[in-house]
Amino acid sequence: MAAGTILQLTNVGRRYNEIGRELTILDDASFSLGKGEMVALVAPSGAGKSTLLHTAGLLERPDNGDVILDGRSCGSLSDEERTAIRRNDIGFVYQFHHLLPEFSALENVMMPQMIRGMKPRVASERAQQLLDYMKVGARASHRPSELSGGEQQRVAIARAVANAPLVLLADEPTGNLDPVTAAYVFEALEALVRQSGLSAMIATHNHELALRMDRRVTLKDGKITTI
Ligand code: ADP
Repeated sequence: MAAGTILQLTNVGRRYNEIGRELTILDDASFSLGKGEMVALVAPSGAGKSTLLHTAGLLERPDNGDVILDGRSCGSLSDEERTAIRRNDIGFVYQFHHLLPEFSALENVMMPQMIRGMKPRVASERAQQLLDYMKVGARASHRPSELSGGEQQRVAIARAVANAPLVLLADEPTGNLDPVTAAYVFEALEALVRQSGLSAMIATHNHELALRMDRRVTLKDGKITTI
């Protein structure tokens, strides 16, 4: 693994069994994400973006090849070890916020920290700071249903980075927002990534946003290539 690389996929294969035939989604796919780098993943629907992000984020196991996070080979780790790494070192943002509806914005951002064993007061302070940074601090006591789509996504981003992960993986984080809100949410996400030195891989259909990242890759015939 090259110095300055935080996440590496080496010859990753991922196949699904459909009735009567095998679908190859990732076919010896290789990729390196540099420390502090922000990479856009741009590919048509069905190309395998979610599969790639889930495999990179240790939610799915590769059928072959390896995922190396911060120099650590994750391919052969136990489920418990993978869960621990996901909890501490990987942040996820999805197209839909997946916030817990019966908890406030603040509590949603506190949750991953509490699961990790942080004291409520410390978790609460950090959660408020992150919400402030995402310019949604004034809405901290509100439940997700009382927030706009853009606000919900900003809370979801704050939650994803609550445990100061090494890598942020986002699957069309602004895909469900109107263009103006999408630009605003992306700006906040970008500022957070840049300010914290986080490394990010972000799947998006929005070419304007993709152009603002350091590099663009696509998925074609199961391989990851630079565009
Ligand atoms: P994208 O995110 O680019 O839209 P996905 O990774 O969601 O692509 O899906 C890639 C292909 O894999 C699609 O054809 C999809 O139907 C198929 N696929 C995804 N997950 C599964 C699964 N669990 N079982 C079978 N096929 C799947």
